[in-house]
Amino acid sequence: MNVQPIPTLDERINDIRLKTAKIVNEDILPNENQLWAWRSDDAAQREESRRLREMVKQHVKQAGLWAPHLPQEYGGAGLSFLEHAYMNEVLAYAVGAASLFGVVAPNSGNQQILLKYGTEEQQKRWLLPLIEGTMESGFSMTEPDQPGSDPRSLRTTAKRDGDEWVINGHKWFTSNGKRADFLIVMCRTDDPDGPADRNGKMTQIIVPTATPGVNIVRGVPVWGRDSDHCEIIYDDVRVPVTNQLGQTGTGHQAAQDRLGAGRVYHCMNSVGQMWRAFDLMVQRAMTREVHGGLLETKQFIQGFIADSYIDIQAARLMTIHCAERMESEADARTEISAIKIFVPAAYHRVVDRAIQVWGAAGVSGDLPLAAMYEGARTLRIADGPDEVHKILIAKNVLGRYHAGESWDFGN
Ligand SMILES: Cc1cc2nc3c(=O)[nH]c(=O)nc-3n(C[C@H](O)[C@H](O)[C@H](O)COP(=O)(O)OP(=O)(O)OC[C@H]3O[C@@H](n4cnc5c(N)ncnc54)[C@H](O)[C@@H]3O)c2cc1C
Repeated sequence: MNVQPIPTLDERINDIRLKTAKIVNEDILPNENQLWAWRSDDAAQREESRRLREMVKQHVKQAGLWAPHLPQEYGGAGLSFLEHAYMNEVLAYAVGAASLFGVVAPNSGNQQILLKYGTEEQQKRWLLPLIEGTMESGFSMTEPDQPGSDPRSLRTTAKRDGDEWVINGHKWFTSNGKRADFLIVMCRTDDPDGPADRNGKMTQIIVPTATPGVNIVRGVPVWGRDSDHCEIIYDDVRVPVTNQLGQTGTGHQAAQDRLGAGRVYHCMNSVGQMWRAFDLMVQRAMTREVHGGLLETKQFIQGFIADSYIDIQAARLMTIHCAERMESEADARTEISAIKIFVPAAYHRVVDRAIQVWGAAGVSGDLPLAAMYEGARTLRIADGPDEVHKILIAKNVLGRYHAGESWDFGN
């Protein structure tokens, strides 16, 4: 991966990008096949994979890049939002590298929510083991019978009974559900003794998966394969009220906090993956001969290269613009929705072209392109589908014009 210092960026961000690229180029890419052999049937391959993964993680820690989303006092790299965003475009070049840098969804999102909303006791009990890697977690919001794109419609309830919340509901697509030790469950809370205006609003509640009544029905198959995105029934699940995160009724805001930053990180990851797909596409075009000439000499293929270049540049600059607004604490809701639509779609197009250039090899398991293609398509649904974000953009734009202003594209 060709990463050079960017003259307009400060030294620290350039240093982070270069250190990340060194690990990607020297430790991950040359060992890519062996690193992901930890599921192999061959014990020697599994052991070699474990050894290599530990070696990469050590190098990441020595470079001060471990857990970029966490503050230093919690064992993280203590990066600013923008530093983390710039790091992601580099680390995501190597598919699946996030786990080697200690930042894996949904644990990373849950860690950030526990940091922001967790009490000292909750942080000791749930956050620290999550950081140390001795616990796993999931985030359980979406329901099969309600539209996930309208989270206010969720039906799962938590009713107050003495010092306990009693949870009933049906969720699905709770990622990491089979491995999770606890789940953060989005519930509609009713507390007859609580503030009236908060009743019926959403609250996030920590539920250990071993609690009676938590029934993990199945991993929902995704793209024709088993998955760890779980369907879960919560049947009279009782947890102490001290397991609630933040104040009663703040669950929706906490979910927005999680998703807003997460969308920028996901988009920078997509940029990194497009970058990889682009390199693969160009390298193939330069070496594959068809019908008496290299692919690079055919105008169809030159069009693929040019269109992909434009897609990546546009996606990257839009995401950086959005990240800069968030870093400066400006209102970035319109920009977040814009990148959430544009970047996964651009990623989808770029990978689609790269697959086409590679022919049958493009859809094979020998290259990372097929997995990228599925990931890109899925991103257009997860974290809010395109249509919902378009509605939000139009609402924000029209709101401003109705207020007698117009849009300033420079800010
Ligand atoms: C791989 C994967 C992992 C996931 N992980 C998690 C997780 O860990 N935790 C979790 O809680 N959820 C998770 N989800 C769920 C995800 O957040 C939801 O799928 C998403 O929010 C969309 O909800 P839905 O599937 O219910 O679609 P629906 O809300 O039913 O929407 C279906 C379609 O309707 C259209 N639509 C919706 N609203 C409008 C509108 N206003 N106007 C026009 N068209 C509209 C869109 O095209 C949309 O795709 C995951 C999903 C996937 C695919």
